[in-house]
Amino acid sequence: MCGIFGYAGSNSAGHLVVKGLQRLEYRGYDSWGIAISENNKIAFVKSLQPLAEAADIYNKEKFMPANTAIGHTRWATHGGVTNVNAHPHLSKSGEFALVHNGIVENYQTLKEELIAQGYDFVSETDTEVIVRLVEAELVHTKSLEQALVSAFLKLDGRNTIALLESKTYLILAIRNGSPLVLGKAADGYFLGSDSLSFADETNEVLILDDMQMVSITKNILKIHDIKTNKPVFKDFKKIESQNVLVDKDGYEHFMLKEISEQSHTIKIASNSEEILASGFEKVCKSASRIFTVGAGSAAYAAGQIAYYLRSYASLPAFELKAYEFESYAKQFTDQDLVIAVSQSGETADTIEAIEIAKQKNVTIASIVNMQGSTIPAISDYSFFTRSGPEICVVSTKAFSAQCAWGLALAKAVAGDIQGHKKEIHDVQHKLEQYLSDSINKGAQDLAKLLSKHEHVFVLGRGQNYFIALEGALKLKETTYTHAEGFAAGELKHGVIALIEKGTPVIVLISDDAYHNAMINAAAEIKSRGAYVIGIAASDNPLFDKHIPSVDLKHLSALANLIPIQLTAYYLALELGLPPDKPRNLAKSVTVK
Ligand code: GLU
Repeated sequence: MCGIFGYAGSNSAGHLVVKGLQRLEYRGYDSWGIAISENNKIAFVKSLQPLAEAADIYNKEKFMPANTAIGHTRWATHGGVTNVNAHPHLSKSGEFALVHNGIVENYQTLKEELIAQGYDFVSETDTEVIVRLVEAELVHTKSLEQALVSAFLKLDGRNTIALLESKTYLILAIRNGSPLVLGKAADGYFLGSDSLSFADETNEVLILDDMQMVSITKNILKIHDIKTNKPVFKDFKKIESQNVLVDKDGYEHFMLKEISEQSHTIKIASNSEEILASGFEKVCKSASRIFTVGAGSAAYAAGQIAYYLRSYASLPAFELKAYEFESYAKQFTDQDLVIAVSQSGETADTIEAIEIAKQKNVTIASIVNMQGSTIPAISDYSFFTRSGPEICVVSTKAFSAQCAWGLALAKAVAGDIQGHKKEIHDVQHKLEQYLSDSINKGAQDLAKLLSKHEHVFVLGRGQNYFIALEGALKLKETTYTHAEGFAAGELKHGVIALIEKGTPVIVLISDDAYHNAMINAAAEIKSRGAYVIGIAASDNPLFDKHIPSVDLKHLSALANLIPIQLTAYYLALELGLPPDKPRNLAKSVTVK
C-alpha cells in the first residue's frame, strides 16, 4: 500500500527514485509520481502506467539532472485513480511538492475551512488539503519548515508526508503512523516506506518515530520532535542484509516462486534456539495470558500460533483480530503478553493494537518478516521469519513461516528443542520432495474443476482449522471465487445447509487426533451430495478427488495448505487473472 521514496545526494536522484518506486511496487499501487527541482521550480511526472515503464516515462520528460527527488506510489483512498489525484501535489507557486501516505481523517472540515478562506482545489484527494494548509500557514510565517509543522499538527489520523522544496533542494518529511525509514549511503541519504526499497544501496537504517520530522540535504540530516520542538539524536543501525534480489528466479510469477520456497522458509523460521537465547520462552511461561494478534493472513497465523501454544505448551493463548482489539482494551493487565504477527511489520491495524496494549503496560513481542520495520521497533521482544522479500500481494511463504515460528516457540516453552530440531529436519526434507512431486498436476486439475463453480468450501479442525480459513482466503484473494473456510465442527450448526449436489468442498485431514472426526464430516457432506476433495496423506473411499499430502506431524496442516495455494495460483491463470497483483489489494496495509 502506498510508498514514499526520496533521495538527496550526489547521484542521479530521479533514476534512484524510479528504482526505489519499483521496489515499493509490491506493496500495491494504482499510480505513481516523481518530483525534482528544476530552475527553482518543481518539475514532476505522474502516471497511471505500470512502474515497469517508469524509467522510459521519466526519461521522456528530459528533466535536467537532479540530485534531490521525491516519489510516491499511490493506493487511492480519497479520489479516483486519475493523473490529477496522483501524487506529488504541488503548491500553487511551484515552490514545493508533497507526497503523502495515510488518510487525513478530518479532511472534509479542513477543506471547507480552506475553501471559505478562498483556496481552491484541483484534485479530490485528502492530500491536497495538506498542501493548501501549508500555503495558508505560509501567509503567517516565512519558514516552510514551520508552516509544514503547523499544518501537520492540524491533521487527524495516521499520516506520513514528504515535501521537496524547489529553491533549497531540501526534503522535509514527517512521520505519524505510516512507516518512514532513512538510509545512509556513501553518496547521500535515502528515505523510504521500507528499508527494502533502498536495500541494494545501503543497510544502514534509521527508523523515524511518530511525530519526528527529518530535514535532509545532500550532506546534512537533522531530526526533531515536532511536539516538543527539540532536536532528536539518533544513530543509523546496520540491519541484516536483505536478500535484495527481488526477481522471479525463472518462475513465471512471484506467487509460484514463493510457494515453492516454503521447504526452506519454514525451516529458517523454525528458530527455537533464537527464542531460547532471548529468554522469551520464560516470558511466555510467566505471562498470565498471551494474546496473539494480526490482520488478514497474519490473523490466521496468529490463530495457528495460539493453537500451538495451547496444544503443545499448555499456555493460556488466545487469538485476537487486530481491527477488533479495542473492545478488549480494558481487560489487559501488565501481566499479559501480546504477540503481534505481520509480514511487513507496518500493518496499521496491528500497530494500533500494540499501541492499545502498551497503554496497559502489556509486554509486546512480534514475529515479522521485514527487518527495519515499525512493529519490531516498538516491541519488547522482536523475532523475524527471515523468509526474504515476499513480493506477491497474497501471502504464502510468510504465512507458513509465521506458523512454523509459532510451533518453534511452543516447543521451546515445552523444553523439546532436540525433538523439534529433528522434526524440522524431517519437515524440510519431506517438503522438498513434496514440492517437486506431481503436486502441481493435482492442483492444476483441481483449478480446472473449481473454475466451473461459484462457491467452494474448505473444512478443517484442530491444526487444520486456521489453515482452512487461510486456504479459503487464498482462493478469494487470488481468484475472486466465493470460498469459505469453516471449522468442520460448525457443519451441523448451520453450514451444512449450503451443501447441494456437486458443491465442491475441500476437507483438510491430518493423521492426528481429529482424523476420524474429519472423515465423519466428509461422510456427512458426501451424503448431501457434496463433491468431496480430500487433501490428506492417504486416500479414502469418501473422496471424489484425492490430493495427496504429506505427514509432517505438528506441521501437517501446512503441507495441506500448499495444494490450496497452488490451486489458487492455477485457478487465477485459468481465469485470466494476475496472481501476483489481485484487484483492490495492497501488500502492506499501512492505512486503517
Ligand atoms: N489518501 C491519499 C490519497 O488517496 C494517500 C493514499 C496513499 O496512502 O497512497 O491520495
